[in-house]
Amino acid sequence: MTGEDVVRWRELADGVLIRRYAELDLTVGLVLGDEQALVVDARGDRAQGEELAAAVRAVTALPWQLVLTHAHFDHCFGAAAFGQEPRWAHVNFPAHLERTVDLQRAEWVEHYRASGDRERAEALANTEVRSPNRLVDDPVELDLGNRTARLAHPGPGHTDHDLIVSVRDASVLFAGDLLESGAAPDFGDARPLDWPGTLDVALRGGPERIVAGHGTPMSRRQAAEQRDELRAVAELCAAYSRGGITAEEAVERGPYPPETMRTALGRVDRG
Ligand SMILES: [Zn+2]
Repeated sequence: MTGEDVVRWRELADGVLIRRYAELDLTVGLVLGDEQALVVDARGDRAQGEELAAAVRAVTALPWQLVLTHAHFDHCFGAAAFGQEPRWAHVNFPAHLERTVDLQRAEWVEHYRASGDRERAEALANTEVRSPNRLVDDPVELDLGNRTARLAHPGPGHTDHDLIVSVRDASVLFAGDLLESGAAPDFGDARPLDWPGTLDVALRGGPERIVAGHGTPMSRRQAAEQRDELRAVAELCAAYSRGGITAEEAVERGPYPPETMRTALGRVDRG
């Protein structure tokens, strides 16, 4: 038995659903038009992707397209379960995936083995990772039938290739890991100095419901609060980069745990 046995879709707005998993507190999405469905993120291995694909099929028989918000394994390694249908991602996604796929797999197989989750470790070890087959540079408007989903890259932030999905008729934004609900953002591949400005762009138009890549959906106010925290991190990283403060001072003053702050500082040059 796992927590996944009780996972349910939740309808956030008319025809906009989310599904939240115990594993890494991942949240994925489903947008239903009259003619097409759009799945937002694919989960972290082939078996997880198959679970999600079946869950989508339990809701709709519409043809689907898949959008991958970024190349971190938990969001995209399940993509093969969605077949040959369009798989959208940002133009920088394939290079990042190619550079990190073996590393990500090895690191997380090790993590699952160490935590006694042999089944997940094996599933991940045996997952064939699919690259996107539709690349987004300028924003793309996907016509789903009586509804449009807009795919756009608001700038570097959590990675150099985050893609957001706006469903404007429902005032919903899927932000990927540009936002994290209930946990500190992850800076492992981040561009800390750019991240707050990128979020300003992502939040333009004031969406009412914002789906973070992990955790519960956020309100506009909660998203703005996290943007402000990211701005504080950016300012500390900039001061550290200029040599104005030490790493210890930046860690001390940061809004996030020391480990998170150290990772963020490690992503800027010290001049
Ligand atoms: Zn991520």
